[in-house]
Amino acid sequence: KEITIEDLPGVGEATAEKLRESGYDDIMTIAVASPKDLADISGIAEGAAIKIINAARKYADVGNFETGEEILKRRQEVIKLSTGSKNLDTLLGGGLETQSITEFFGEFGSGKTQIMLQLAVNATLPKEQGGLESDVLIIDTENTFRPERIIQMAKAKNLDPDETLKRIHVARAYNAHHQILLAEKAADVAKEFPIKLLIVDSLTSHFRSEYVGRGSLAERQQLLNKHMHDLLKFGTIYNAVIAVTNQVSANPAVFFGDPMTPIGGNIVGHTATFRIYLRKAKAGKRIARLIDSPYLPEGEAVIMISEDGISD
Ligand code: ADP
Ligand code: MG
Repeated sequence: KEITIEDLPGVGEATAEKLRESGYDDIMTIAVASPKDLADISGIAEGAAIKIINAARKYADVGNFETGEEILKRRQEVIKLSTGSKNLDTLLGGGLETQSITEFFGEFGSGKTQIMLQLAVNATLPKEQGGLESDVLIIDTENTFRPERIIQMAKAKNLDPDETLKRIHVARAYNAHHQILLAEKAADVAKEFPIKLLIVDSLTSHFRSEYVGRGSLAERQQLLNKHMHDLLKFGTIYNAVIAVTNQVSANPAVFFGDPMTPIGGNIVGHTATFRIYLRKAKAGKRIARLIDSPYLPEGEAVIMISEDGISD
């Protein structure tokens, strides 16, 4: 029998419900939780929370070590997805990688959704053309998916627009919890269709509008953390590219330079392997800046958004 959170000592129905509502819905999430967060969320004493966490750690498979050889083998399966711009692909070391999360952040109109739609079209292409030969899953939180735009981009690549549309599976997320649920269910879709690209556009908009004020910040970050890890897990298991978009807000603490910082703070920053900051430039051009990459140098690429889609 699979162990559920109700099997933990001191977790009754009411506590289990509160934990689940806040994203602590499996043993592993509780095993790595902080006692204070757990106590705050479920309304139990911190001492009781420590007991619950310790019990969860006994059940959880925390010592899940892999050898360097195993990691190398997994890394060798990584494939790369072209953005449509050679400049940007080069900046990313060949394109967006499978088994990683790539985050595009920038202001409204900076081209985040355009890039997501282009990635969706490109993913259906053969590998020799920078594609993944795959279907695509899009979690659309802002209702900005436009089939008409896919048709334009598909035609520009000499693809059959109807066939391309058939390979793109779109789910509208109505709130943050729905978005989390859709990511959890992505594996069900991947059993039926060959999904090697999962898009979340936008990752943070629901979280930002539903969890306002200091009091709800901890809960928001906890949920975002869980969501990011679900996405990364999908990317690892299905050898898929995970592409997400994120908004920016002006950081009042920045006096010099660009005050725009991405939403979601450290949680999003630490889980996304590649972060790309998009800025508007003249005449349909955008500047894409690679930030905080684990093994690529920082740098910028100029890309173009036109009727045909993303190019140099
Ligand atoms: P974000 O998602 O970052 O808010 P979008 O990806 O929606 O921004 O970008 C919108 C911009 O993309 C438009 O302002 C326009 O410059 C460009 N764009 C959208 N559709 C087209 C098109 N068919 N032809 C040329 N440019 C387009
Ligand atoms: Mg958008």
